[in-house]
Amino acid sequence: MSILRFNALKEVLNRKPITIEENKRRSELFGKNVFNEQAMRQYMTKEAYQSVMDAVEFGAKIDRKTADQIAVSMKDWALSKGATHYTHWFQPLTGATAEKHDAFFETVEGGGAMEKFDGGQLVQQEPDASSFPNGGIRNTFEARGYTAWDPTSPAFIYGTTLCIPTVFVAYTGEALDNKAPLLRALQAVDTAATAVCKYFDKNVSKVNATLGWEQEYFLIDTALAAARPDIMMTGRALLGHSPAKGQQLDDHYFGSIPTRVLSFMRDLENECMLLGVPVKTRHNEVAPNQFELAPIFEEANLAVDHNSLLMDVMEKVSQRHNFKVLFHEKPFAGINGSGKHNNWSLSTNTGVNLLSPGKTPMKNLQFLTFFVNTIKAVHDYEELIRASIASASNDHRLGANEAPPAIISVFIGSQLSSVLDELENVTKGKLSPEEKTDLKLNIVGKIPEILLDNTDRNRTSPFAFTGNKFELRAVGSWANCAGPMTVLNTIIARQLNEFKEEVDKLIDTKKLKKDEAIFNVLREYIKASKSIRFEGDGYGEAWEKEAKKRGLSNNKTTPEALKAKVSKKAISLFEEMGVMNKVEVEARHEIELEEYSKKIQIESRVLGDIARNHIIPIAIQYQNTLIENVRGLKEIFGNNFERYANEQIDLIQKISNHIAEINSKVEDMVEERKKTNKLEGQKNADAYCNKVKPYFDEIRYHCDKLELMVDDNLWPLTKYRELLFTR
Ligand code: ADP
Ligand code: MG
Repeated sequence: MSILRFNALKEVLNRKPITIEENKRRSELFGKNVFNEQAMRQYMTKEAYQSVMDAVEFGAKIDRKTADQIAVSMKDWALSKGATHYTHWFQPLTGATAEKHDAFFETVEGGGAMEKFDGGQLVQQEPDASSFPNGGIRNTFEARGYTAWDPTSPAFIYGTTLCIPTVFVAYTGEALDNKAPLLRALQAVDTAATAVCKYFDKNVSKVNATLGWEQEYFLIDTALAAARPDIMMTGRALLGHSPAKGQQLDDHYFGSIPTRVLSFMRDLENECMLLGVPVKTRHNEVAPNQFELAPIFEEANLAVDHNSLLMDVMEKVSQRHNFKVLFHEKPFAGINGSGKHNNWSLSTNTGVNLLSPGKTPMKNLQFLTFFVNTIKAVHDYEELIRASIASASNDHRLGANEAPPAIISVFIGSQLSSVLDELENVTKGKLSPEEKTDLKLNIVGKIPEILLDNTDRNRTSPFAFTGNKFELRAVGSWANCAGPMTVLNTIIARQLNEFKEEVDKLIDTKKLKKDEAIFNVLREYIKASKSIRFEGDGYGEAWEKEAKKRGLSNNKTTPEALKAKVSKKAISLFEEMGVMNKVEVEARHEIELEEYSKKIQIESRVLGDIARNHIIPIAIQYQNTLIENVRGLKEIFGNNFERYANEQIDLIQKISNHIAEINSKVEDMVEERKKTNKLEGQKNADAYCNKVKPYFDEIRYHCDKLELMVDDNLWPLTKYRELLFTR
């Protein structure tokens, strides 16, 4: 009966932290299991090495002969590290990573055997595409899928398997994964940003988008989690009364890390070091048992791979420490949820961060150019950004007054706001010598100084400038960063193309000097994008009203938000930038809607099961004890018994009422689900959102009330206080 919960508690109290050996410096471990530049130089011929480098830097193609050479070197390196298998490692649209291991081992004629791996196996594989979501692409094109090597993300060894990062595409070329569109978006932003950089520095030949994610998560003891079917099946607690002590004392944030957790973190960080994931910071987060981990930022494609890899490694390492790691955005109602801040910037191959002001007025004008263009792009495509972070689980977090609202806005701080205000007044057309000097000395020239003491921070903003980068904070902790990063880099690419066109036009037709033309275009962008800038409290109701007046979108649910992904505007953006064609965009939309519906459907089934088969029987059992008690009192006190049984009778009635409510609500919910299942696509998702999901809170309310009434010794599910405070 309730055995599981109490056994679990006993088990947890007896747990000891696992000792983690740390006899090597982190710097010595770093990248040991990565086929990085150092390893490549050691194992590869000069030409082969150079061809990989050219592929990484300029997207040059690698011919088959060179691929054979690279494969042999990669195999030799992998075997020297004890690897026995290899796999193409990819990120299908399921949200998880996928791998299919093949042994290097092959038999040869005459009964012998050897380890083999050639260019063909390195470059391409054919996993069964029909087993992964494809949004109808396969049916339309009768196409098989294949994975293709991405040389820009180095191969690595995990366990005894050589993992080769790859894209996953249909034979007809449509992307079936998260990486392929991201690579195309990064290509687009590189081309566009490099062209704009030429205004300021002719030596720039490549621009990389950079990403530094911050991963939040919860750790729950495996035994305690196992006594919660909801957590096991859906990643979150579908019911459970808030504990007397939650996070209201703020005693967890940055507090000392519990010993068992610390040993998990050490173990995890050692694994990360070997895999070349440059994790740097760790700390407690706001909620009890919530933590955060962040790396040093990297080139965006690599950073996305590293985040996906990290999440996978975290699940594995946490098992060793008897923890279940929860990436759900809102595992516990009433307690802060988890996000994944995406710090983003652009950086040139000459080593300049384009969102960091420089020493000369020209460098600062470059900063302003990228800064203002970013704001303009977010202004023009705010709804698409909102769509890029939409998921069933993130819906719980956005707008819950602890995370950014569902309204996208940009925070830049008061000092930069006043710089933009001044730039709004720049004269149209040619500038007078005085105005030029003024801009140089008093406005643009002052930016580095004002940024030095830029202490403005606004935790409520979904897209905030933080000194030398923008921070997209609304990304969910469960999300693959590729989605939002694809959108962000695509809209920036489009924006920079437009900017370049407009500046060139002013130079050609109006005969303006370069910097005059730039000031002229920026002035118009600042005016046009004003409505996206917001410095106030993003959690407040006032902002919702104000945002509505400004015409900003406020799509609170995923089915609503996702529509922006298939709008005419979005499709033409993706097509124009060569990131996705219409078929790819629509396929993804279909997959995301379906995923949404499935998630709600599963939650609904699990909740119905727990409420009826776990909660109600226990409530009845306890009620029977009360009835026995009342009967006994009647025997003793006769007609006078009510004086002594008042409380009990009241409880008996209340329990009956809650049971009745739960029963009828669950029945209604099942009916709604049946109706919903007859619908398809958008209608299906809408119905799951608006017809099925509203029952969750109602059913939960009555279950949570019962939790407060029923004898603690009978309650079958681990309680919040146990999940969150037992270590
Ligand atoms: P916080 O936002 O918590 O105050 P920091 O400002 O120190 O912390 O940085 C947060 C994250 O920003 C780090 O993970 C870091 O890797 C990332 N970051 C710093 N500079 C850049 C950059 N140029 N591009 C992308 N990410 C960056
Ligand atoms: Mg941050």
